[in-house]
Amino acid sequence: NEVYDVLIIGGGPIGLACGIAAKANNLSHLILEKGCLTNSLYNYPVNMTFFSSAEKLEVGGIPFVTTNPKPKRAEALEYYRRIDSNFNLNTRLFEEVRDVTKDQNTGLFTISSSRSVYLAKHVIVATGFYDIPMQMNIPGEDLPKVRHYYDDPHYYAKQNVVVIGASNSSIDAALETYRKGANVTLVIRRSEISPRVKYWVRPDIDNRLAAGEIQVYFESCLSEISEQAVKIRTPQEEIEIENDFVLALTGYRPNFAFLEHIGIEVPEDGARIPQHNDATMETNVAGLYLAGVVCGGLNTHLWFIENSRVHADLIIKDIANKLTLL
Ligand code: FAD
Repeated sequence: NEVYDVLIIGGGPIGLACGIAAKANNLSHLILEKGCLTNSLYNYPVNMTFFSSAEKLEVGGIPFVTTNPKPKRAEALEYYRRIDSNFNLNTRLFEEVRDVTKDQNTGLFTISSSRSVYLAKHVIVATGFYDIPMQMNIPGEDLPKVRHYYDDPHYYAKQNVVVIGASNSSIDAALETYRKGANVTLVIRRSEISPRVKYWVRPDIDNRLAAGEIQVYFESCLSEISEQAVKIRTPQEEIEIENDFVLALTGYRPNFAFLEHIGIEVPEDGARIPQHNDATMETNVAGLYLAGVVCGGLNTHLWFIENSRVHADLIIKDIANKLTLL
């Protein structure tokens, strides 16, 4: 059985960056991705535009060329696919990692996936946060008309759509579905639209709300969902409106159960930032590292591609140092 120098869990932008850094340091690597290549990006809304400009999404020093001011999802998919092939990364897709155990005598990791078992000297967890949506914990949330991922606006034409949330995902979904003829109601827990909403989108949503073209309830939340209606708790009263679909874009969180299962300590505080050393990204388990947006715990705005792609070099430098000391 081959023993890999580095096994990387997650084939997102940062997992790929780790593979590139491993190759550059002549370390053998394997990337295991449970979905398609850059699975999270693939599952973004089809028309999604990044808030980052293209150069900030680059990995491996390869230019991300686009003629748009900000790149679109389809361009990013193409860019990262070319990155994978250009660097001839050892990426295996549709293979989920289920367990990682460390042999305390040899120091080697055994990684069990949905397809096979591997051995590695070091493991990098670059699993992101896009797999587990935040739940509202209200009656009716499990109805099929409630969606935690939004993809294509056409589907919602002529429907009564409630969009929950005030950040980029929600505002994009509200505007797109409104433009395809949906009757859109925004339900926002706070008293305003998030200041993080893309600066070029902001005037559009402000104008739609001011004109009453999209309804909005601030300081409000859904209290119940039924087949044909939703109940909204507003500061004044609870109201009921007709409804066909609920887009509950209430955020996502890392798979803490998986992190804890493989031995990483996750504090039970507000942020739940998985334990790691900021300088090396090594966790409390020696030889097990964290990379990318998973490092932020519940604070999913802490890391993005621009500021977390450096994790790859920090980790591989630490691993290369350890291997030379052996
Ligand atoms: P991800 O891209 O999430 O990759 C993690 C991968 O791990 C996934 O492909 C997942 O399938 C895989 N995985 C998870 N568990 C397992 C397992 N057990 N076994 C195998 N594989 C597994 N960031 C920016 O920098 N700029 C932006 O403009 C931007 N826009 C965004 C828009 C939206 C709608 C969202 C949700 C996020 C956005 N982000 C943006 C944040 C962005 O998602 C991350 O910056 C980027 O995807 C992080 O890369 P990553 O490799 O850390 O994680």
